[in-house]
Amino acid sequence: MGFSAVIVAAGSGARAGAGGAKQWRLLAGKPVLRWSAEALLAAGARELIVVVSQDGEAIAAEVLAGLAWRPARGGATRALSVQSGLAALTGPADEPVLIHDAARPFVTANHVQALMAALESADGALPALPVADTLKRAATPESGSTTIPRDGLWRAQTPQAFRRERLITAYAAWTGDIEPTDDAQVVERDGGKVVLTPGDPMLTKLTWPEDFEMAERLAGVTRSTRIGQGFDAHRWGPGDAVWLCGVRIDHNETLIGHSDADAGLHALTDALLGAIGEGDIGDHFPPTDPQWKGASSDRFLVHAAALVRAKGGRIVNVDVTLICERPKIKPHRAAMRERLAELLDLPLDAVSVKATTTEGMGFTGRGEGLAAQAVVAVEL
Ligand code: MG
Repeated sequence: MGFSAVIVAAGSGARAGAGGAKQWRLLAGKPVLRWSAEALLAAGARELIVVVSQDGEAIAAEVLAGLAWRPARGGATRALSVQSGLAALTGPADEPVLIHDAARPFVTANHVQALMAALESADGALPALPVADTLKRAATPESGSTTIPRDGLWRAQTPQAFRRERLITAYAAWTGDIEPTDDAQVVERDGGKVVLTPGDPMLTKLTWPEDFEMAERLAGVTRSTRIGQGFDAHRWGPGDAVWLCGVRIDHNETLIGHSDADAGLHALTDALLGAIGEGDIGDHFPPTDPQWKGASSDRFLVHAAALVRAKGGRIVNVDVTLICERPKIKPHRAAMRERLAELLDLPLDAVSVKATTTEGMGFTGRGEGLAAQAVVAVEL
């Protein structure tokens, strides 16, 4: 008998950091959701339902283009999303169905075969790993801990296998007093026998930003480090304040330019574009276009960072040098670093802002203008 599959991809995945919900993010150049959709279809899924939120439907259509799947609308909770997916299936009532989390991309046909074999003599089956670490219980880190025996404890993974009607019946009987965190729990409580198949570190759920890097290492993906550099200069003119690295500084002159003339942000934007081979700031925001007149340069930088992420890249660090005699940069450096870290969603130690003079020489030394240069590293 064949099987069908439901992938739950309705979450917002806020914990996985920048770049949107984790199921849409690129993992080794392929959206997370597409990894498991392709794997389940390759393993023989007769029918594939992907449960997505209303906003997610168009994105899912894009990332699953060319695959045989149908959407179901996600609910307010994971349990409701699973039930929505089950309701969308059309196969026989006793057909096995796999319920899978979108954030576990590395499911294989071997995992599926083990589940199908285990389901022959059980109401449900799931991959699980024995708990290796000693387990502690503590209300807060300071409140004192006790140790929980780990004998017989397992970490539940997905996909989890059931016969469709059995799972639907179990969900119908669920009292709703607590929120189930997996589907096996629902069948267990309904008196069903759920058995374990060998778990796999490759089935670990992607939850935090660093999980993506580990998953890529597990998948044998090697990345290269790209370097980008940028340079910009603007002329001083009459004014009372200047924008540098996203920070407004009171000054007896201002920098002249089509936008806010923030040379620090312009150099940094060009460096990011350079690292991914996407031209320069003028290509993306032409100075001839009136909509950028007086524009805050924050948006240029955020746009470049989004292009890096859209290519599956990760900004490692950025380093900006401002070249001028005045204003004094040092009192504003901390604020500039914080602003850049915020705009780029980077930790503070990955952001550097430095300043130098040219000891009175050249156009910056004579006070005709200010220059900025930037270097970035991007993992791609
Ligand atoms: Mg400029």
